[in-house]
Amino acid sequence: MSSTGRFGVERVPVTPFQQNCSLVWDPATRHAFVIDPGGDVDKLLGRIKAADLTVDAILLTHGHLDHVGGANALRNALEARQGNGSVRLIGPSREDDFLLNSVETQAAHFGINDLHNAQPDCYTSDGETFTLLNRVYEVRHVPGHTPGHVVFFDAKDKVVFAGDTLFRGTVGRTDFPYGDSKQLIDSIHEKIIPLGDDVVVLPGHGAPTTVGAERINNPFLQ
Ligand SMILES: [Zn+2]
Repeated sequence: MSSTGRFGVERVPVTPFQQNCSLVWDPATRHAFVIDPGGDVDKLLGRIKAADLTVDAILLTHGHLDHVGGANALRNALEARQGNGSVRLIGPSREDDFLLNSVETQAAHFGINDLHNAQPDCYTSDGETFTLLNRVYEVRHVPGHTPGHVVFFDAKDKVVFAGDTLFRGTVGRTDFPYGDSKQLIDSIHEKIIPLGDDVVVLPGHGAPTTVGAERINNPFLQ
């Protein structure tokens, strides 16, 4: 069941916010996990079926509607389809509980009614590791955009799933009542930059980048 090759990653934009949901799979076993299924669950199921993947888990970087609004529905659909055990829903840090529980309220502000609250099986915390697809993932707590935002780091493929912390040329919004711009910049410097210049950053919106490109060029990090 183990593989030494690189994992496949497909970016699937979801919701009117064009949030990058990621499908990640081991080409040797076709086992997979999904990061930030914000919505468009039928579209995600279509991609999962087309690629012939068995999904073991769903990961959430933070509690915003465009990242988590489809999580419960996707889990239910996958469990019904796969029929062999549960799909683990791995949440962000516990501080984002209030957001996970208010997705329907967040969505109503945008006139959206098909996104739903999410109830993770577990929360994650800084420095914790977990194993998925026989590979170790490290959790780093990167607050500022939301209080409980985490990123997931795969040291083997040198990829970080960054949610709404670090983007190509910019950083996540902090103009929410619970946002903190200084905390976000400090978090990026302390938790993401040390991962190494060659690490690929897969953000929640827009194109991929690398830690090195952002360390050198991102105006918010100078
Ligand atoms: Zn967000």
